[in-house]
Amino acid sequence: MPQKDVVLTGDRPSGPLHLGHYVGSLRNRVALQGRYNCFVMVADVQALAANFDNPQRIRTHVREVCKDYLAVGIDPTKTTIFVQSRVSALFELATYYMNLVSVARLERNPTIKEELQHKSFAENVTAGFLTHPVSQAADITAFKARYVPVGEDQLPLIEVSNEIVRKFNRVYNTDVLKEAEAVLDKVQRLVGIDGKTKASKSLQNAIFLSDSVDVIKQKIQSMYTDPGHIKVTDPGKIEGNAVFAYLDAFYEDPDGLENLKTLYKKGGLGDSALKTLLNETIQTLLGPIRERRQSITDDTVDDVLEAGSIHASEIASRTLAEVRSAIGLWHP
Ligand code: ATP
Ligand code: MG
Repeated sequence: MPQKDVVLTGDRPSGPLHLGHYVGSLRNRVALQGRYNCFVMVADVQALAANFDNPQRIRTHVREVCKDYLAVGIDPTKTTIFVQSRVSALFELATYYMNLVSVARLERNPTIKEELQHKSFAENVTAGFLTHPVSQAADITAFKARYVPVGEDQLPLIEVSNEIVRKFNRVYNTDVLKEAEAVLDKVQRLVGIDGKTKASKSLQNAIFLSDSVDVIKQKIQSMYTDPGHIKVTDPGKIEGNAVFAYLDAFYEDPDGLENLKTLYKKGGLGDSALKTLLNETIQTLLGPIRERRQSITDDTVDDVLEAGSIHASEIASRTLAEVRSAIGLWHP
């Protein structure tokens, strides 16, 4: 039987997963499992890079993120779900890759630059944070991933990974490492409920998959629309209006949505009617996910992560052996 191509992706357990993850990546992962050899990593070491002084937060969210995976339909019999810190081969690989990328290249990376603006390092960016793209290259290459389903913010990091692959293969005259391709979903970047560029755990502007009915309702009530649209009869703006961005992503009747946009632009559709519609749409999507989530026990999650991490370690160790041999490290 021909070997299936590998799909790898992951999330930092710095908080629960949100609708941005759902449309940016989770949906694609569920669609790809079965057809491909899928790996999903809970990137706790990467999360630690921006939270090294709060390991408890990361540890708690490892389980929560795994529950989110299972609740949206990632199936552990088809997808290996594992914890990054349990696969030590990844960190040895990263050490070898550190030599293949310049500090300047990392500092110039648009994803790193954007993330630094949102984190609290100010001028004191740590080596760990600056080099996390190198660690990510280790994650991708350890499994010889061909496809990486991600949101658009991750594209510059996949480019760094591919540069490392090309350089490694050239310098050590080998072909053991494989380049990977990003797989983008229809919605590549979901805005925050505050209308800011990206819904994100650390910006606290996201609707979480595990939010209760009331919290979802309240977050949607507070969503950014068009500040100039005060009376129902006022003409309203669609661009930059977070409620429309969410309807674009989740409302399943595109023709109906076009009609609503026309009416809103002309004047005649109030924000509260629009938010009611969005609330119904999101509650319908998240209701079954929440229900499934509630039935998942901590023991189930621990078993899934333990089995997945053992399997992932075996694969990553095989690649590590090939990498060591390609470099020509001492071996008795
Ligand atoms: P943090 O605030 O800690 O950076 P995050 O919410 O950005 O967290 P990540 O763990 O960095 O989440 O991202 C995991 C995956 O989800 C990545 O592939 C990323 O591109 C995707 N993703 C995250 N937020 C969004 C979003 N708002 N829209 C689309 N994709 C997203
Ligand atoms: Mg992020």
